[in-house]
Amino acid sequence: MSIDQKVSITQTTRSKLATTDLINPVFGKVYADHMLCCDFKKGTWQDMKIIPYGNISISPANTTLHYASTIFEGLKAYRNIHKEIVVFRPQDNAKRMVLSADRMCMPGIPESIFMTGITELLRLDEGWVTNHPGTSLYIRPFQIAMDPYVGIRPSDDYTFMIITGPVGAYYSQPLKVKIETKYTRAVLGGTGFAKTGGNYAAALKPAKKAQKEGYDQLIWTDGESHQYIEESGTMNIMFIINDTLITAPIGDTILNGITRDSILTIAKDQGMKVEERPVTVAEIIQSIEQGRLQEAFGVGTAATVAPIKTIGYNGIDYELTDVKSRKYSLGFLDTLDKMKSGVIEDKFGWIYKAK
Ligand SMILES: *Cc1c(COP(=O)(O)O)cnc(C)c1O
Repeated sequence: MSIDQKVSITQTTRSKLATTDLINPVFGKVYADHMLCCDFKKGTWQDMKIIPYGNISISPANTTLHYASTIFEGLKAYRNIHKEIVVFRPQDNAKRMVLSADRMCMPGIPESIFMTGITELLRLDEGWVTNHPGTSLYIRPFQIAMDPYVGIRPSDDYTFMIITGPVGAYYSQPLKVKIETKYTRAVLGGTGFAKTGGNYAAALKPAKKAQKEGYDQLIWTDGESHQYIEESGTMNIMFIINDTLITAPIGDTILNGITRDSILTIAKDQGMKVEERPVTVAEIIQSIEQGRLQEAFGVGTAATVAPIKTIGYNGIDYELTDVKSRKYSLGFLDTLDKMKSGVIEDKFGWIYKAK
């Protein structure tokens, strides 16, 4: 990829790097020194700049504040064993962001701006990318409508930004999850496949309720019958039954996760049987009762692979197999980790070297 976009850079005079704990960072609380901004005005993307991380100023009438005209992405940069800074499949995040934008009636960010933005930001804040085990620099691109207009219509102006922050492991423990049978995350014809703010705001109440009941996370089911399994929290979900990897197919209501796609690709490459098909709650509960469910796990950038140890359904908690003996999910995690750290060959061309 060529870097054909001009970026103006203003460096911070007060770096926080020396005073930040990069070995045990807290997810989502600490941000690196710089951020990228690019505006969409008069029908074109312009004024791409990197400036010190800090607050931004917007009108109280800003349409995003009122009507949630916002989309985002999430990806990670790692320091590999050759001391290079690598990012996992960033071009796929750029493409997905354009799909989210289209659903929300926003202009799509050109891949060249997305990639140049990430690359330049990582080169400037390279000290924030360390090789401490389990850590990475989380990259959060997002795009918001900017019109100061309290009326419902697509905005004329937008801002695209990228912020980054050091992170460690997302979940430290195997998960206890509850199959949600009342609330709905996404419906056919809705916005479930887009990474847009409203999906997450609407999920807070059911997630909070599950947490009060002692669960870490929800398993979302379809909005119509609540009989089909869709996702787990903000991760895609996978099961192993009869040594076969099973996951729900991508569609309107399921986010097309890059981790999901990567694991499916690795599994097929290793000759494993893979089924992308509707998965019913009944099938999963029955397979647990009959001792046939070998593994269940969430997959996403934040956690990579999050083993599930307990599934709650209709007031009953079903305990799954011992997490330590899970050869498939731990194997996928290991393969992905080794690709990112440069220990094994990047045979699918997923690793982007930023520096
Ligand atoms: C981001 C996200 C995922 C995971 O996608 P990745 O590309 O693997 O990070 C899954 N489900 C939802 C709802 C998400 O927002």
